[in-house]
Amino acid sequence: MIKTDVLIIGAGPVGLFAVQQLGLIGLKAEVVDNLDKIGGQCAELYPNKPIYDIPAIPECTGESLTKNLLEQIKPFKTNFHLNERVQEISKEKNNWKIVTSKDKIFIAPNIIIAGGVGSFEPRKFSVKEAEKFENNGVYYSIKDKNYFKNKKVCIFGGGDSALDWAIELSKFAEVILVHRRHEFRGVPHNIEIVKKLDKEGKIKIKTPFQINSIKGEDKITAILVKNDDGKIEEIKTDCVLGFFGLIMKLGPIVEWGLNLEKKHIPVNTENFQTNKDGIFAIGDICAYPGKLKLILSGFHEGALAARACFKLARPNEKYRFEFTTTSKSTHERLGLKVK
Ligand SMILES: Cc1cc2nc3c(=O)[nH]c(=O)nc-3n(C[C@H](O)[C@H](O)[C@H](O)COP(=O)(O)OP(=O)(O)OC[C@H]3O[C@@H](n4cnc5c(N)ncnc54)[C@H](O)[C@@H]3O)c2cc1C
Repeated sequence: MIKTDVLIIGAGPVGLFAVQQLGLIGLKAEVVDNLDKIGGQCAELYPNKPIYDIPAIPECTGESLTKNLLEQIKPFKTNFHLNERVQEISKEKNNWKIVTSKDKIFIAPNIIIAGGVGSFEPRKFSVKEAEKFENNGVYYSIKDKNYFKNKKVCIFGGGDSALDWAIELSKFAEVILVHRRHEFRGVPHNIEIVKKLDKEGKIKIKTPFQINSIKGEDKITAILVKNDDGKIEEIKTDCVLGFFGLIMKLGPIVEWGLNLEKKHIPVNTENFQTNKDGIFAIGDICAYPGKLKLILSGFHEGALAARACFKLARPNEKYRFEFTTTSKSTHERLGLKVK
């Protein structure tokens, strides 16, 4: 069980900046995100695209913004719990009890929901056996590529994730790349490499085929794939990897008794609190008149929510407004040498 001042749901840009705002006023945060990486939409949807409207940064990419936000919170040594979805929340005396999909439990007086458009989830295979073998032969992401060493692997998908992994795993596994169309959607460079590897016999491309069923008892032994003419073929394989992109689901948030307005959480703009005491919503997921779904708006929302968290985390202390330029306690928290 992990006790903290604030549990932040979402490691997108807004969740990250909220860590900084909390840290400056002496509050500790733990961050949970369903993705396998930090950065939310910036990292997942547009890591290399330029952003032009972050205050005082004329141009940055989704990736560099995430990197700088992480650099800014380094002094607070924040724990990130990735690949975990917040499933349940319940009230326990003056605290919230938060349970994740990996059964991790957090106890905190405050929750900040910085969940963006909901949790990113992989699009999955539609055949019924896929669920049975999920994480035991069927995978939608790769945590440790060495696991696939010397195995026979079927990779499905036509985008860069499928192509990248086909190229990478072909170095030490037997790879069959299956796609429902003849043309791949990845960058030309990746497509070129994959075709070259196919010619050299280092991978096998199978198009236009889709999965039809998965065979095996305790583990996968083979799959059946089908083309547009209904022709079915069997491929012997140890694992099946699906890279069909991500979908965004509001997910368990809908079950927490929060007021919702068209998949968004209405908040009070004085402190970004929801209809529940101690639960705040900031960033793309919150709704109020005039809301702009911009990163800079989320930063402001995080600053106000952080101050409101102070009241519940330190009920016997009075919050004092201070500038970072001149506040000694802030400098200490940042690990700066105090003059
Ligand atoms: C292509 C594109 C270009 C953009 N360009 C700009 C731009 O130029 N300027 C600008 O200001 N904005 C831009 N935006 C919008 C900007 O990316 C969003 O406003 C911003 O990402 C919102 O940040 P956030 O932290 O609120 O949410 P997100 O970035 O969406 O992060 C939310 C995180 O919460 C996680 N999560 C949700 N629910 C759970 C749960 N139950 N458990 C665990 N984790 C959960 C998700 O997995 C996700 O990682 C752009 C967006 C896109 C798609």
